[in-house]
Amino acid sequence: MTYELNEKVKNLIPYDPVAGDYEIRLDANESFIDPGKLFREDFLAAVAAVDFNRYPDPAATELRKKFGAFYGVDPENVVAGNGSDELITVILGAFLRPGDKLLSFSPDFSMYQFYGEVYEKTNIVAEKQEDLILTAGDVIDAVRKNRPNAVLLSNPCSPTSLVMSREDVLHIVENTSALIILDEAYMDFSDQSIMKVAEKYDNLILLKTCSKALGVAAIRLGFAVSCPKIIRALNCVRSPYNVNAITQAIGTVLFSKPEYIRKSVEEIKKSRTYLYENIKKLANSPGVRSLIKPETNFVFLELDHAEFVYNELRKNSIIVRKLGDYLRITAGTQKENDRLIQALGEILTRKI
Ligand SMILES: *Cc1c(COP(=O)(O)O)cnc(C)c1O
Repeated sequence: MTYELNEKVKNLIPYDPVAGDYEIRLDANESFIDPGKLFREDFLAAVAAVDFNRYPDPAATELRKKFGAFYGVDPENVVAGNGSDELITVILGAFLRPGDKLLSFSPDFSMYQFYGEVYEKTNIVAEKQEDLILTAGDVIDAVRKNRPNAVLLSNPCSPTSLVMSREDVLHIVENTSALIILDEAYMDFSDQSIMKVAEKYDNLILLKTCSKALGVAAIRLGFAVSCPKIIRALNCVRSPYNVNAITQAIGTVLFSKPEYIRKSVEEIKKSRTYLYENIKKLANSPGVRSLIKPETNFVFLELDHAEFVYNELRKNSIIVRKLGDYLRITAGTQKENDRLIQALGEILTRKI
């Protein structure tokens, strides 16, 4: 007998993060600050204290307590996950049934549609307007038209770098009975979070990741904040030891350093403003179509020849993310930003 992969799995295209060695990596929206270097001793001590022969705390109690204290939410309304990616898969896999309608928008985080497909949801994708601004009205119209079981969106949005106001987001949550999965991965760089009131709604799950503002993409750590009923269900369907002990230990150290988090967020915001202001100076160069003022740690730039510019940057050992006619460029160190700006200016003024 031979085993045949089913059509669905056979035809999937794997997520393709950029491989290869580049001197300057501005493609994945990671932090340019590494807390593992800043707090080397604390990290090593935390790892040394792990009981490696034992399963981790299934409830990640200490970690959730610290997370709750930092963000001002009740730890009882928080679930930790192996990155927010894991939480997305758990929510889509268990909260929605096969064939249920999942509404997302385009452009938005590409993994939403991918997981929708893997877990056999009916993906409904609403295109954003030309200016890429998503309004509460757009979302509510799409909900009325398509009657989805769940809506999944990022705010601020990756890749557009735009934020929707708190009022608009709450308006959406309050005016639909669909489950709203709100990904606030980049909200540390903006100021429109609804995390503090998330527990009040019975149709909202808010997601956070430690991979961006907190600078620990390596340890895979994310959180969901929701109402007690949903939290209870999430705890039933996730795997019991989903967050390993090393990640719990490092995450606990990190959230014990609120000054570090606040300071690095400020530094990253300064870097993205610098990157934006300097790319803006190139906005009159031939081939630059549009540039959005970012609420994130990256800049989103529309070009006539995105592919060409992307490849030329690569030749300079600078890697960014290309999405159609756009480049998404992560804010880096001063030196990285300057090299990017210099190379970009040079490429754009060259005759294509
Ligand atoms: C990076 C990113 C994530 C990934 O989070 P992990 O915790 O690293 O899995 C989730 N959502 C958005 C919008 C992101 O950009």
